[in-house]
Amino acid sequence: MDGVPPTPLRCFNEFHSAEMFVDDGVETVTSVEQKKVEQSIEEVVSVYKQIHSLPQVCQFLARCQSPTGGFAGGPGQHAHLAPTYAAVNALCIIGTEEAYNVIDREKLLDFLWSVKQPDGSFVMHVGGEVDVSCQNWEGGLSGVPGLEAHGGYTFCGTAALVILGKEHMLDLKALLRWVISRQMRFEGGFQGRCNKLVDGCYSFWQAGLLPLLHRALFKEGTVPLVRAKPARSRDFYHTCYCLSGLSIAQHFGNTDLHHEIILGSEENRLAPTHPVYNICPEKVARALQFFLRLPVPGGNKQPEAEDRQSDPAADNDDASAAGSADQS
Ligand SMILES: [Zn+2]
Repeated sequence: MDGVPPTPLRCFNEFHSAEMFVDDGVETVTSVEQKKVEQSIEEVVSVYKQIHSLPQVCQFLARCQSPTGGFAGGPGQHAHLAPTYAAVNALCIIGTEEAYNVIDREKLLDFLWSVKQPDGSFVMHVGGEVDVSCQNWEGGLSGVPGLEAHGGYTFCGTAALVILGKEHMLDLKALLRWVISRQMRFEGGFQGRCNKLVDGCYSFWQAGLLPLLHRALFKEGTVPLVRAKPARSRDFYHTCYCLSGLSIAQHFGNTDLHHEIILGSEENRLAPTHPVYNICPEKVARALQFFLRLPVPGGNKQPEAEDRQSDPAADNDDASAAGSADQS
């Protein structure tokens, strides 16, 4: 994070190898297994050391960019909306001109048009499943009409409408009722759909809706109340979204209460995350400053985009998000 020198990872410590298991020459089934595990950790650490330079991350992501304009999970694979979202966010987090310039905006726009369906929905990749979104009778949004509401679709659909300035098209009160009903009473965490188990990533997908709804309802003259809690995680995806949800909960107050709520000691404080883009707000501001200076690619195809371009002040605290929650 900017300004704060990051604590070096344990695995970069020069004494790290001294932590390896020593069997004093007595080999056992357990010691053999332990050494295998440590060897695999060493491989991971050495790869991490090799790629953990930001220019190399930019070059790698450039290689993940498909000739069709979207980003793929790896070089040579097909472009897909989820890695496209992740790659664009990662490049904005890096925040250098080199990183921004990796994004071929002209071709990226072509890719987005190629996955857009005539009914306004998007498929994740050419020939793939439809993603987002229709508000249904439950109040949340589903992937296609008639399916149950889901936290991931609901966040992405709502955030997209916020970016477009069309959130009033939703039944905001029904949406608020749906999302607060997804917070489980006993566990405190959020479920993704009705009658499902809590899952940490919905700390962001569901709780992240609350600041967006708060703002939309405030515009309408209604002030909602908000409560959110994080849950646990054990992989990078859930670590990211649990922390994002916790950050939203810490840094979002209602109108009478614009102060942070940090449970426990000060060291529990997280950096704020932007409730639409889910990267640090200053990274959003910096990326917007950079991209708003550039012409909108294919502006003649989409006149509304040019209107927005001509008024960069209109939505400086707005942002974009896409992405895809898991199906839990
Ligand atoms: Zn999950």
